[in-house]
Amino acid sequence: MPRTHATLPRLYVEPDLGAGAQLTLGKEQSLYLAAVLRKTVGDEVVLFNGRDGAWRSALISDSKKSVQLELREQIAPQTPVSDLWYGFAPLKSERLDYVIQKAVEMGVGTIQPVITQRTQVSRLKHERLVANAIEAAEQCEVLSVPVVEPELTLERLLDGWPSGRVLILADEGAASSSPVATLSALKGRPVGVLIGPEGGFLDAERAKLTALPYAVPISLGPRILRADTAAVAALAVIQAIIGDWR
Ligand code: SAH
Repeated sequence: MPRTHATLPRLYVEPDLGAGAQLTLGKEQSLYLAAVLRKTVGDEVVLFNGRDGAWRSALISDSKKSVQLELREQIAPQTPVSDLWYGFAPLKSERLDYVIQKAVEMGVGTIQPVITQRTQVSRLKHERLVANAIEAAEQCEVLSVPVVEPELTLERLLDGWPSGRVLILADEGAASSSPVATLSALKGRPVGVLIGPEGGFLDAERAKLTALPYAVPISLGPRILRADTAAVAALAVIQAIIGDWR
């Protein structure tokens, strides 16, 4: 995919973006641009807000407290919001940051922490997850930042599971096989993928999940993957076979 302006810093901002618009950054982003990156008046930055595509902008003031930018041109159209739902049992600290960032890079649309019996953490700092999602989008030129939902227990998740959406279950207990045929049969349907915790699903949880009419268990091969490896592996095969890697 042709990359343009790859050397320019990219920042996620809230305001609407349009030609000639001017916007003033908050303290944190101003400090980052003016002090850390030492950007000065005239230097360029790419801005995106998840709605208006990517815009090339230039500094018109470089105060460390409030950098001002003027938008020049749209350099990439807004990408469609992804319909891919990603549920996972949250891991501890930096591995949690990792799976959030990888989910963004792999193009999910919704990030849903799911508390299962063996989940290692139960209280999540939602703002930290959102910050990780935005940072991943900035670093990987993702233009639609996924929604990070507040955590749900597995029971609550299943109670409210939307009709019509298939739940692809990464099932470490499934007999090793290739998921290609199983996933190919789901082409065109709204899907979600669920990855269990480091300790795996309880047998009772697996039994409940695999009995669901809308659940489709897949194997990710003959080896037991760590939860963060399984997340990337599952998202890769889904995106490659029925997702947006077309
Ligand atoms: N510790 C457990 C495995 C948990 S791995 C054990 O030793 O049995 C964490 C999660 O990654 C699993 O719940 C599952 O969702 C996924 N996973 C890991 N390996 C997998 C595989 N080979 N096939 C399908 N899913 C897998």
